[in-house]
Amino acid sequence: MEPKLSPLHLMEYENEYGAHNYHPLPVVLEKGEGVFLWDVEGKKYYDFLSAYSAVNQGHCHPKIINTLIEQSKKLTLTSRAFYNNKLGIFEKYITDYFGYEKVLPMNTGAEAVETAIKLCRKWGYESKGIKENEAQIVVCENNFHGRTTTIISFSSDTEASTHYGPFTPGFIKIPYNNVQALEKIINENSNITGFLVEPIQGEAGAYVPDDGYLKACYDICKSHSVLFIGDEIQTGIARTGKLLACDYEDIKPDILILGKALSGGTYPISVVLSNKEIMNVIKPGQHGSTFGGNPMAAAIGIASLQVIQEENLAKNAYDMGLIFRNKMKTFCENSKIAKQIRGKGLLNALIINNSSYKELAWEICLKLKDRGLLAKPTHTNIIRFAPPLTITEKQIKECLEIIKLTIREFE
Ligand SMILES: *Cc1c(COP(=O)(O)O)cnc(C)c1O
Repeated sequence: MEPKLSPLHLMEYENEYGAHNYHPLPVVLEKGEGVFLWDVEGKKYYDFLSAYSAVNQGHCHPKIINTLIEQSKKLTLTSRAFYNNKLGIFEKYITDYFGYEKVLPMNTGAEAVETAIKLCRKWGYESKGIKENEAQIVVCENNFHGRTTTIISFSSDTEASTHYGPFTPGFIKIPYNNVQALEKIINENSNITGFLVEPIQGEAGAYVPDDGYLKACYDICKSHSVLFIGDEIQTGIARTGKLLACDYEDIKPDILILGKALSGGTYPISVVLSNKEIMNVIKPGQHGSTFGGNPMAAAIGIASLQVIQEENLAKNAYDMGLIFRNKMKTFCENSKIAKQIRGKGLLNALIINNSSYKELAWEICLKLKDRGLLAKPTHTNIIRFAPPLTITEKQIKECLEIIKLTIREFE
């Protein structure tokens, strides 16, 4: 038996033996169920981060966990050197579900973004006729697409990129939420093969672009044979109140990237979806992953998407998000600290006025924790509020009270 360690000891172990690449809130969790988490001392919390939107279906969803257990007893990994009896069924299911012809399964979000980049470049050379090594992909300022060397090559966040160079060329950064900037660069540069964009910038703090922005960008891409690549790793799978955030503007990305909640938070599963004309540029041996498309992931992926549909989670996220933002908006009008609430569905962020005290958002999150609600600040003055999509009206109202009470203490 392992000795039972105190929370302080457990945190000390992480500090001592783990790399310091995160700065966690001081809470040590050991159990999750639905919208709740419990720490090692049995204290119960509302989870308002949902593992960065990976647990949209709620913690340890019985249907997803059951699928995981059952499949793990039968077959976990074959590699793609052979067929397995789950992958094809998953591929048919997910392409039908999102309305695409083809899917390429990977594991983490960053891998799926890498895959989309490779696919887009290859399509640029082989279908669009761009000269070898000249392809350019347009990205947005303040993007977050993951942590690989190539992806951080086009990050605006110096924390994410400093001393990790030399960087991968072939990316052009333009301001987000700026249609003219995209139009200008696409008109000037015939080597552009794709536009990679988050429909809402999640890590930037639930930054929602103007209505019509995505549609206008999509139309520009269409008229110039530039692939519109939607990174819906965080916004997708019902988080923003529709199945995809792109559904708000009725656009269908040429390449769609999903991850996070594709597993209900149990297992890393990501995919790239596209049509045949694009996906078929990748031939056997030209891309791959040992774990990508394994039977565990395939079974869990189906269960996770079924839960979204069966429990109507997009609608619930939409409705609960409206309640949350409306109440927070009223609260912000009378607060010196809470400046602004923004977001869509249950991907929301509160902007904190930290002009008199820089660490205010962090302090608020510590107090929220004491009161039984877990949220994490981002970019020092933004607190993201993104509970599992299964949250009920009664629960969200209780959480609103906790949040308001806590912030009032700092006024
Ligand atoms: C989380 C995230 C990623 C990276 O996913 P990982 O699984 O952490 O590699 C990429 N894009 C967006 C929009 C994300 O939110």
